[in-house]
Amino acid sequence: MEQSSEAPYSNTSRNGRLTVISGPSGVGKSTIVDAIIETTPSEFSVSATTRAPRTGETEGVDYFFVDRETFRAKIHSGEILEWAEYGGNLYGTLRSSVQPILASGRNVLLDIENEGAKQIKAHFPEALLIFVAPPDIHTLRTRLTGRGDTPEDDIALRLSAAQQQMTEAPDVYDYVVINTDLDRTISEVLDILGSGSNELPIH
Ligand code: ADP
Ligand code: 5GP
Repeated sequence: MEQSSEAPYSNTSRNGRLTVISGPSGVGKSTIVDAIIETTPSEFSVSATTRAPRTGETEGVDYFFVDRETFRAKIHSGEILEWAEYGGNLYGTLRSSVQPILASGRNVLLDIENEGAKQIKAHFPEALLIFVAPPDIHTLRTRLTGRGDTPEDDIALRLSAAQQQMTEAPDVYDYVVINTDLDRTISEVLDILGSGSNELPIH
């Protein structure tokens, strides 16, 4: 897996908190992120990707969909804070999707994979890293299939990546939350966000 070697940015001002929500595809990250956004002063960081849009995905809402050449140009111009290759596509966090929100005092949620999470932690030690794990791999498959937007080949790839992600998780993340019951998971994540914060209160 490729990853960025650039120092992305420093946290120079008193601002919102950067929180990474990672986990295997289909585990429930987007659902959890949506719930956090509804109940806390937070915004989702929209990433850039070279992956093709899935049915129902919207440019600028789910991702900024770009070709490889454009993505590379963004790396070289310093517009990308961290990036990684996943399933043959490039994914990266845009500086412009993070810094203005943090500077406004709002929290930023990143839905990124392990390599990106490591890069964020290395360059922004105050970031909170949460890994969402499935109760078991069969449940993960059911959720991924049930979402109905991912081709069978991609499901196989995502399940095999999931094993690797879950093995690494305890070494990379501050918290591992098992998403069995959705409401309970959301409340656990909200508790984590609210605990030990010297930034914005969660309401
Ligand atoms: P991700 O963003 O991690 O790929 P999603 O948020 O799209 O995952 O969730 C995948 C599917 O699993 C969705 O259909 C979602 O409604 C469902 N889901 C999420 N959490 C749970 C849960 N705890 N129990 C049952 N289904 C869930
Ligand atoms: P999907 O194709 O299912 O939307 O995402 C595939 C994987 O890419 C997920 O694990 C997701 O968290 C990760 N991802 C999405 N955006 C980014 C990003 O900006 N940076 C990194 N490193 N990973 C990302």
